[in-house]
Amino acid sequence: MSKRDYYEVLGVERGASEQDIKKAYRRLAMKNHPDRNPDDETAKARFQEASEAYEVLSDAEKRGAYDRYGHEAVDGMAGAGAGGFGGGGSFSDIFGDVFGDIFGGGGGRGRGGPQRGSDLRYTLEIDLEQAVKGTTAKIKIPTLVGCEPCDGSGAKPGSKPVTCTTCGGVGQVRMQQGFFSVQQTCPACHGKGKTISDPCTSCRGQGRVEETKTLSVKVPPGVDTGDRIRLAGEGEAGGDGGPAGDLYVQMAVKAHPLFERDGKHLFCEVPISIADAALGGELEVPTLDGRVKLKIPPETQTGKQFRLRGRGIKPVRGGAVGDLLCRVVVETPVNLNKKQKELLEEFQRSLEGDSHSPRRKSWFDGVKDFFDDLKI
Ligand SMILES: [Zn+2]
Ligand SMILES: [Zn+2]
Repeated sequence: MSKRDYYEVLGVERGASEQDIKKAYRRLAMKNHPDRNPDDETAKARFQEASEAYEVLSDAEKRGAYDRYGHEAVDGMAGAGAGGFGGGGSFSDIFGDVFGDIFGGGGGRGRGGPQRGSDLRYTLEIDLEQAVKGTTAKIKIPTLVGCEPCDGSGAKPGSKPVTCTTCGGVGQVRMQQGFFSVQQTCPACHGKGKTISDPCTSCRGQGRVEETKTLSVKVPPGVDTGDRIRLAGEGEAGGDGGPAGDLYVQMAVKAHPLFERDGKHLFCEVPISIADAALGGELEVPTLDGRVKLKIPPETQTGKQFRLRGRGIKPVRGGAVGDLLCRVVVETPVNLNKKQKELLEEFQRSLEGDSHSPRRKSWFDGVKDFFDDLKI
């Protein structure tokens, strides 16, 4: 893989000023920035190419070396962070990078070597019942997967990646840097030890293609909105044979027509008649496991809350099962016929004083005090 001339990459003259180089790079970076060109591999490659060119040409020392000796002089310096002792970066930074390479410390660093695939996030909407009891959901996600025709190698089927001539297939090159001789990832093959002369047409040599993947996600009982399930290795495929990223499935529990949820507790409103409220009785109330009986004592007022222990939700991270809290709402009867109205009037006449209305007396007293105070 031969590299384009850095001046050509930025589209500037060899004698271009620092200012012109900066301007040219800014223009290219803005145009090809990965954030503005999602999933566009060409733009991404251009962006990286321009960044690399700028990194060298914006540094007087590196630019000088490049002008005199070409790519050889600066390859491996750009991007790897080991930019010579004079080029900024502290001593420890330089050693960190050098040793990291020698000991083969994981992929994904710098420009060379295998790249770990990106993590993906997916929002999964489920019903309250599914959240409480657990479920298995099928989800479809667009992602990058290893290319099948070339088996992820990026080389046209029938052809093979060839051994890199720069490093002889080792993937590492030895470089003299000051008084150190250090080993670095081969800039020509990015550590793979092989280069592709005949790229696969399905993936354009990338080794990865976009695909919609169907996955089955096991949702454990008790999850709530905001909980995440990690599916290791189900994110985007890695580049250059690197490991795949992870997929995070984020739960979003839909609103329920009857129940409101607060952590492990459930709430619901239960309408009751005036007669049931006054005389007491037994009601059937819904729970997530079916109906249960709820005893209403006589003289129950509207708004009274009854707790059904253990009828809530078992939290996904363990602990005691929550409760179901039923709030009764006394309903005013509607659509009364003549006979019913007469009965109600008769009933009303039968009531004596305030003794049947526990809140009424204190309410009227309050109103009286209020007006008395106003007179003063
Ligand atoms: Zn190589
Ligand atoms: Zn392919």
